[in-house]
Amino acid sequence: MADELHEECGVIGIYRMDETRNAAPLVYYGLYALQHRGQESAGIAANNHGSIELRKGLGLVGEVFRGDALNLAGNIAIGHVRYSTAGDQSVRSAQPLAAICRLGELALAHNGNLVNAESLREMLTDEGAIFHSTTDSESILNLICQHGTRGIESGIRNAMSLIKGAYVLVLTIGDKLIGVRDPYGLHPMCIGKLTKEEGYVLASETCALEALDAEFVRDVQPGEIVIIDREGLHALEPSHLSRKNLCVFELVYFARPDSIVDGVSVYDFRRRCGMKLAGQRKIDADVVMAVPDSGIPAAIGYAEASGIPYGEGLIKNKYMGRTFILPDQEQRDAAVRIKLATIKHNIEGKRLVLIDDSIVRGTTLRRIVKLLRDEGAKEIHVCAASPEVRYSCYFGIDTPHREKLIAVQKSPEEICEYLGADSVTYLSEESLRDVCGEDLYCKACFDGKYPMEVPVSGGEVSDNRA
Ligand code: SF4
Repeated sequence: MADELHEECGVIGIYRMDETRNAAPLVYYGLYALQHRGQESAGIAANNHGSIELRKGLGLVGEVFRGDALNLAGNIAIGHVRYSTAGDQSVRSAQPLAAICRLGELALAHNGNLVNAESLREMLTDEGAIFHSTTDSESILNLICQHGTRGIESGIRNAMSLIKGAYVLVLTIGDKLIGVRDPYGLHPMCIGKLTKEEGYVLASETCALEALDAEFVRDVQPGEIVIIDREGLHALEPSHLSRKNLCVFELVYFARPDSIVDGVSVYDFRRRCGMKLAGQRKIDADVVMAVPDSGIPAAIGYAEASGIPYGEGLIKNKYMGRTFILPDQEQRDAAVRIKLATIKHNIEGKRLVLIDDSIVRGTTLRRIVKLLRDEGAKEIHVCAASPEVRYSCYFGIDTPHREKLIAVQKSPEEICEYLGADSVTYLSEESLRDVCGEDLYCKACFDGKYPMEVPVSGGEVSDNRA
């Protein structure tokens, strides 16, 4: 659920064909729409006829860009919001990253994690490369610069042949804005067209296009490089190894419900998971309730399919911002009460079906169940709109180590007892497969079938490919 899993980044790039108009303000609005993908830092790099100017800082978009911080000249700009899963949490590791190399001035923003980051860094360090941060994104930047003797396109192609893992990149150099998606398409990236003027948008999610009143053109394909310059938009053919494995957690939890990811409505996907859950097991209950916000579409779907009315019982405090790990139980309980208010009328004396998008550690869900009990709920039947999370992610989603996952630690009965619920039901892997349709997704956190070799403890590599 929301407090237990974190996405690490959102990226955006804007190209305004009118060279007198600055792209940074549009990137700024787009970053607001992508804020859910990272709240630790934000940054914008603007390209003014090949000269890059960069602003970044720790905090939310609105905290970083105050006053004149948006006075960045240039009709091309890229932006980034970050939750760190690799690298430290200092401003040095905030993105975009910028460099001056033989190709010119270059800025890059990255979403995802590389599985061979350590060996790449070692290789680059041995070759004399200097690093300013601890992010794997800086290795990508170095590789592109080093291997770009025949231009930026070949630099990117060569870098892509060396890096392994998940990456969505936006870059700007010279008169170009460039988007890159890894050959597995693990994280999303779409292309939009500005409607009130000539220009293009590259973004992690379509919700950023909506915020800019831009029209959806298409998704960037796995392994594809798209280039926008004065001539317009063109694409380099994806490598023949490309095979789509979109992270299913993008649909389960990360993406905003109003986004369309690789042709799938996030809202509808979650609603259908809820409908499937209702079909798996009949529960006698009075109200279907969601853990807000990501559990809401699944709860609506569950209510629709089961005929049990949907009711709001938990209201999320949207103004609380980020929370920190609080030192004792009393303070943590208080934090849940501030974060989630209750509507007692819908809870007291009621038998509840409580829907969450997923159960990872179960710690926050346990506090929510207690909160509902304190408000007088008669029965609480917890339902997760995804299967048991049994494996860690190596591709940029901050899942805990395997041994900390509740589905690994405990049996179903023990989970129920730990949560303080009357029953616990997970969406079955079969139901998830039905909702997904074609097998175009990475579901490794549920089934352990990673789309590529991943590192395991002791620096070994596990090959459990789907
Ligand atoms: S392992 Fe899980 S979180 Fe990571 S990419 Fe695959 S489905 Fe997504």
